[in-house]
Amino acid sequence: MLRVLRSGVLSKGAEVAAFESEFGGIVGGRSCIAVCSGTAALHLLLLAHGIGPGDEVVVPSFTFAATANAVRLTGATPVFADIDPASFCLDSESVTSVLSERTVAILAVHLFGHPVDAPALRGIAQRKGLLFLEDAAQAHGAQIGGSPVGALGDGAAFSFYPTKNMTTGEGGMVVVSDPAVAERVRLLRNQGMAASGDHRVVGFNLRMTEIEAAIGRVQLLSLAARTATRIAHATEFDVGLRGVSTPFRSAGILHVYHQYTIRTPRRDALSAYLRAAGIETRAYYAVPVHRLAPYAAECALPHTECAADEVLSLPVGPHLSASEIAHVITTVGDWGDC
Ligand SMILES: *Cc1c(COP(=O)(O)O)cnc(C)c1O
Repeated sequence: MLRVLRSGVLSKGAEVAAFESEFGGIVGGRSCIAVCSGTAALHLLLLAHGIGPGDEVVVPSFTFAATANAVRLTGATPVFADIDPASFCLDSESVTSVLSERTVAILAVHLFGHPVDAPALRGIAQRKGLLFLEDAAQAHGAQIGGSPVGALGDGAAFSFYPTKNMTTGEGGMVVVSDPAVAERVRLLRNQGMAASGDHRVVGFNLRMTEIEAAIGRVQLLSLAARTATRIAHATEFDVGLRGVSTPFRSAGILHVYHQYTIRTPRRDALSAYLRAAGIETRAYYAVPVHRLAPYAAECALPHTECAADEVLSLPVGPHLSASEIAHVITTVGDWGDC
């Protein structure tokens, strides 16, 4: 950050370019375009693929509102599909059941750091001629079958909000496979401007600053170590927790535990018990997107509804000490006994 301040170049400089090229290292070398938030990344990803009014995009309802908001902001319609109750990610049979002649894309979320069933969803997209896009806001470095998220489909969006697995304060990254789409994202990010006096389309200002990019470059260096800590905490929880359902584990999946999310039908009682013991938890997502005011859709999403009532995310990550993790395990066990 001091290097940037001393240089006097605070925007559109070498740090953003370097961060984009270094981030390519965790997404199979694809084209990366840094922007000011994960929501901006999703919005530009969709716009640059030509998605707009009249189009339908299949999304999960069990996610953060930004996934569906980005679809709405293009003028397209988000169509909600249900989740696989084990992984909390889009269920391919439910996706198939909501496709229509207006569907143009599947926007899947790697929820809590668990990669979606990309082979199944990509197969549907290929058979139906749809785009397969990834909301990877919670899954930096996650893998399925040895392939990194962000390189599983036609394009992806990452977030660098402070709670995510890596941060730039605020920020996001668009990742795409097609160089022509990458060029459109670059234009849309910066007023549609190819060069001074040469504005090709109506664009936004959704640029990342040089200070944010400098933070991102340092965060990227420690991402692997911090992810390893998350996985180590998750492993301790998997072994130690009693009386609750722990996250699904399966071969070939590298889960990066943006959240460590357990399930119990007595979720609110457990949350209150943990709070009394000094442990903060969150129910992500107690209100699924299809029940939020701007969407308020009548959908039959039984697995989404059930998860919304039962999930609880425990503290996980490099800010926690070994004794704090042990305290969580003991306290959840004590609650199970009472
Ligand atoms: C955080 C998040 C976003 C939005 O990212 P911002 O950087 O906060 O705009 C989008 N989708 C999901 C699933 C998220 O968790």
